[in-house]
Amino acid sequence: MQTRSQPPSGFHLKCVACATPCASTVRELACEVCGGVFEVEYDYAPSALGQRLPLVRPHEKLTLGEGNTPVIELKRLAAELGLGRLWAKLEQIAPTGSFKDRGSAVLMSVAVEHGVREFVEDSSGNAGASLSAFAASAGLKAHVFAPASASPGKLQQISVFGAELHTVAGPRQAATDAARAYVKERGLVYLSHYHSPFFSEGMKAFAYEATRSPAANVRHIVMPVGNGSLLIGASRGYDELRQASAIEVGPKFHCVQAEAVRPLVAVLNGEDWQFDRAGRTVASGIAVSKPPRIEQAIDAVRGTGGSGVAVSDDATLAWQIRLARQEGVFCEPTSAAAFAGLEKLILSGAIKHGEDVLVPITGSGLKEPLQAHPALHI
Ligand SMILES: [Zn+2]
Repeated sequence: MQTRSQPPSGFHLKCVACATPCASTVRELACEVCGGVFEVEYDYAPSALGQRLPLVRPHEKLTLGEGNTPVIELKRLAAELGLGRLWAKLEQIAPTGSFKDRGSAVLMSVAVEHGVREFVEDSSGNAGASLSAFAASAGLKAHVFAPASASPGKLQQISVFGAELHTVAGPRQAATDAARAYVKERGLVYLSHYHSPFFSEGMKAFAYEATRSPAANVRHIVMPVGNGSLLIGASRGYDELRQASAIEVGPKFHCVQAEAVRPLVAVLNGEDWQFDRAGRTVASGIAVSKPPRIEQAIDAVRGTGGSGVAVSDDATLAWQIRLARQEGVFCEPTSAAAFAGLEKLILSGAIKHGEDVLVPITGSGLKEPLQAHPALHI
């Protein structure tokens, strides 16, 4: 065990790569034996009543009203695509406008239990805004590193919540590198939402909610994947529900990435892929070239019989408008990429005509300016 300061609490951390156990900590993000990332392991069986949480005092979990997002049916698109039923889970109506609030509520609650007062995070925008909101409500000081090219709406949102915003020129990875350097220089806690094992634990509720929704028996979930917190967390949620005998079999997870940044899809499809610094995508929320939890993401897809597909920016932008104009759902391009992927999955036969599909609408369109959108003349 690396740290022994916490009382027995029914859970600990375990290295994903070498399975070395470690007491719960927010200050260490990597296994001291091999450098791998951690996952949470519980000492008690899951229950169908609700997800297990990595908190000593779960009843004190912070909340801004996240979770329990509605599931609606997209009837016009289902008919056009030849699907049985097409469901959308409206994660964009979360308190800060993205699914990240589920993870922030848990990660920030763990940080409070561990006595954190000030922390560093890096984000393409949504996670930074979400953690900043929860930090504000808990009275913590947040330093958020984000690409200078991030959506102005997301950057302003981070500042609105009182976080100190550090913008960094270059690709998404440059913000991560700058955050790490700042952590080292200032001796602060690095609450990286994708290195930390606690963030994706908050995503497990997605599975519990989905199984109680009209989309309970859906065969396929299609989602955009960057660092994979929703994919990994939802997959863990369905695993818990299976272990609790609440369901027999979960859905297949299909992951969608942009053609320009597709590390996970490349592995899933056996392609060679090299990150190109010049490669850009409008799907900024999934422009992650080196996801540290890629092995867990691959397991979540392969373990359910799912697949990976990459989509063009043109298709993503076209779907953003199509969703708004045909279904009244205004999402960010990252979320629209899932529908571009869905269309390709139907064409390839990975999803068959007449089958039912659930797509999370991961983020709101209201944060990103539309002036440059080719489909609009405004
Ligand atoms: Zn290890």
